[in-house]
Amino acid sequence: MRCEDLEVYLSGYLDKELPQQQRQKVQLHLDSCSTCNEILDQLRRAKTSTEQMVFEMPSGEEWADLQSHILGRASRRAGWLVLVVWGAMVSLYGGYWYASNSEVYLLEKLVVFGLISGIGLLFFSVLSERLRESRSDRYKGVHR
Ligand SMILES: [Zn+2]
Repeated sequence: MRCEDLEVYLSGYLDKELPQQQRQKVQLHLDSCSTCNEILDQLRRAKTSTEQMVFEMPSGEEWADLQSHILGRASRRAGWLVLVVWGAMVSLYGGYWYASNSEVYLLEKLVVFGLISGIGLLFFSVLSERLRESRSDRYKGVHR
């Protein structure tokens, strides 16, 4: 028996599915051929590691945990949105009231508006940075 012929029978040999006669032929070749012994060894290793592979499903508790985690993220995002819209409305209204109040000096108006727009710009730059980070980190909660 040649090596090329043996390869066909190796997996059957490993699973002990060969008829007695073929099994003896394979055994005979294996006794004298290190190349086919190596192939058989690789096959055996592949077989054991496939058998030992276990697919674990997340438990019910883990699923519930994951779902509440996702819900938490969604409601946090909605909370940010409401906060930003509210802040914009309040500052627009306050700004309008402040600018139309004739009892306040122009210089004071300029100082206050400069301060507010500076803080606002800082706030929005931090906010947009955090949003970009959380977007690129979307699957953070999946692998735990
Ligand atoms: Zn061989």
